[in-house]
Amino acid sequence: MDTSSGQGVDVGEQRYWLQTLGCPKNRVDSDKLDGVLAADGYHPSTSPDTADLVVVNTCAFIEAARQESIDTILTLDRQRRPGSRLVVTGCMAERYGEELALALPEVDLVAGFGVSLAPPTGAPVSLRRRGSTPAPSASARSFDLLELPRPASRESWAYLKAAEGCDRACGFCAIPSFRGPQRSRTMHDLIAEVEALVSGDGGSPGVKEIVIVAQDLASYGRDRSTRRQRRLEGDPEGERSIVELVRAVSAIAERTRLLYLYPSSLTDRLVDAILDTGVPYFDLSLQHVSRPLMARMRRWGDKVRFLDRIDRIRRLDDMATFRSSFILGYPGETEADHDQLLSFLSEAELDWAGFFLFSAEQGTLAYDLDDQVDPGLALERMRECAELQDRITAERRDRLVGQRRSVLVDAVGVGRTVHEAPEIDGVVRIPDSLAAGSIMDMTIVESLGVDVVADPVPAGSRGAVTDTLGVGAP
Ligand code: SF4
Repeated sequence: MDTSSGQGVDVGEQRYWLQTLGCPKNRVDSDKLDGVLAADGYHPSTSPDTADLVVVNTCAFIEAARQESIDTILTLDRQRRPGSRLVVTGCMAERYGEELALALPEVDLVAGFGVSLAPPTGAPVSLRRRGSTPAPSASARSFDLLELPRPASRESWAYLKAAEGCDRACGFCAIPSFRGPQRSRTMHDLIAEVEALVSGDGGSPGVKEIVIVAQDLASYGRDRSTRRQRRLEGDPEGERSIVELVRAVSAIAERTRLLYLYPSSLTDRLVDAILDTGVPYFDLSLQHVSRPLMARMRRWGDKVRFLDRIDRIRRLDDMATFRSSFILGYPGETEADHDQLLSFLSEAELDWAGFFLFSAEQGTLAYDLDDQVDPGLALERMRECAELQDRITAERRDRLVGQRRSVLVDAVGVGRTVHEAPEIDGVVRIPDSLAAGSIMDMTIVESLGVDVVADPVPAGSRGAVTDTLGVGAP
């Protein structure tokens, strides 16, 4: 789940190093920070030890992510040059700002996005304050990175953050407490950002794939109207905004992919819109399948409903690809619950799945729940699920051998079909000679566990490419 990246080229006098931890949503925030710092006259540096400003965009999702964030801060503090400023921002800064500032005196500023970038001081002037702590989350929510410009993507794809925050109250999740309620961006702003990403600039040819993300993506736009208004407008499910967004983005970008879909919001109209993009990829946020446990999690759904939904989508499109994530060891999880999850994994045959150990987060419902599961047992259950899923994933990858697909070349020797989301799934290994950013018709010739190997289809060969990017389609 987690990614960590740093970047830069030494240019100009004021240089910065930005280290990003966490999920794709955090990566978009870092793109926006890049844009803000560039507008403020900063240039990226090639390493943290040559930067004037070292920024760590942290993740606070679970204990392991927080530890990784702290380790990264301490490592960068050792690496940075004397006189540089070390700034910590992101989820940890928003959630534990005061404690972090006290616990890490080596950090010059702990800054929630809202505080550090707030007018009238202008970005990132307030990053110069030492030892400052973030303001309460209410003010952080008053100013989001969402609407800021971002630099052209250096990749063949880019994340597009459609909304910030979340209106749900899942028992294990602290995100709404520090990211706030959902705030959807306007369609106009999102489309303008997609157009800029796709057209690129002098140094960038533009992206081919847009990956739309949000904490609860299928709910995009619901915060812009009341339930009553939606009913009166003939949109009782509140799906119109996300459907329109998917269709509008896919009219511009060659590929449109969605991440983080709450299963009850995956309506027929949204399924149709996703299938019509030609990228039949469904990242369903399931978390578990046992009904009693789902109720304790304050989440919708169960094994039967999920299997039914997956089956119906596969009947509409046999190329449909499914990813999900699951929590092991949620308080009250029994052997029977675990057996249900194992049987679901066997029956659903998801293409990809991630498994996470429950982490008791302060301020969540689950923090005080009784029947906490022994950590050793939770780990054992997680390993059992992961081993089963590894076999299923490998089998699903084996089935691709001999098939033709359009492959987007991400980098030298690396590409992706519609079946793989960037950064989280396997990849397609391709000849080194193919140019990044191109989309080519290829045949899958080998499967290597999570990755597959593909060769270009010879020119003039009539293809039976079955995904719908229009390249070599029959
Ligand atoms: S939908 Fe996702 S972000 Fe929102 S509360 Fe549930 S787990 Fe957290």
